Amino acid sequence: MRLEENIRRVTPYVPGEQPQQKVIKLNTNENPYPPAPGVERALKEMDDGRLRLYPDPEIRMLTESLAEYCQVKPEQIFVGVGSDDVLSMSFLTFFNSGKPILFPDITYSFYKVWAELYRIPYECCPLDEKMHLRKEDYCKENGGIIFPNPNAPTGIYESLDVIEEILKQNPDVIVIVDEAYIDFAGKPSAISLIDRYDNLLVTQTFSKSRSMAGMRIGFAAGNERLIRWLQDVKYSFNSYTMSYPAIVCGTEAVKDTEYFRKTTEKIVATREWSKERLADLGFEFPDSSTNFIFAKHPKYDGEKLFQALKERQIYVRHWKQPEIAQYLRITVGTDEEMNQFFDTLEEIMKE
Ligand code: PMP
Repeated sequence: MRLEENIRRVTPYVPGEQPQQKVIKLNTNENPYPPAPGVERALKEMDDGRLRLYPDPEIRMLTESLAEYCQVKPEQIFVGVGSDDVLSMSFLTFFNSGKPILFPDITYSFYKVWAELYRIPYECCPLDEKMHLRKEDYCKENGGIIFPNPNAPTGIYESLDVIEEILKQNPDVIVIVDEAYIDFAGKPSAISLIDRYDNLLVTQTFSKSRSMAGMRIGFAAGNERLIRWLQDVKYSFNSYTMSYPAIVCGTEAVKDTEYFRKTTEKIVATREWSKERLADLGFEFPDSSTNFIFAKHPKYDGEKLFQALKERQIYVRHWKQPEIAQYLRITVGTDEEMNQFFDTLEEIMKE
């Protein structure tokens, strides 16, 4: 038996480690605070009789509360098992014209993996010297465009003007804006544009700002026609993608806007003092609008710092690709975790 070339050759996405022992875990952009209290309550009070039954294939309860939260119609929302699920479904649905899709370099490394798996040709568009998108690169003929905003792992937010220009230049293809980290930006979401651009799909996740990475919930907002196509493709693969507990807990999380605001603001405040402390230590980094900071030091080797931190039970993210091997991506934890991180980092730098 022979596997097809695209499957044999695929470079699998390697997620950050999930160590079993207790460590300071600043490597996969999880939220250091628990989910909204209503989520724990919902789990404890859950009617286990419902587990015998299939969940609502239309995920109406969560879709409706998300529509209300985003101030759009339920027909403009598509829910999936984490935004990775929504994004991979979107690649299958919208990026199969045979023309190359465009995404930035550097960016979320899963885009390349999906393109290779699904035999979608792609072209990477380098960032400019300040690590911003070069919007003029997105004018060439293409089969679709995807980028995160804010970008990962740089943390840089692009204004809606830039996004609108890209949308206007590409009326005949789908432009996906992956907003996994938008809630930490304090800046407008592209969801506000979906009524004006029928080629725009915006994805968001519950894994970061809502602290529910383990529950696997993500969603897309877009024109009703795009959402209907996504539903059709989803039903053809697996009509019951989301579990009943995830639907109930996700709905609880959306309701608690006050807890969401408080924890997000706390993370942003911790990020801001962490930037100052990193700068004091001589690190250089693009200005992050997310819950992580992508930082390098002109005098210290990235991989060595990563290993030395790991030996001291502090996990951050590091990639071996030469262009970014000098960088560490540090997730913003609690104030206590960040203080411990900085104390340890200073010790290592003195050695
Ligand atoms: N997009 C980006 C840019 C991300 O960093 C991540 C998290 N790894 C995701 C999407 C996927 O998040 P999830 O599947 O947990 O919703």
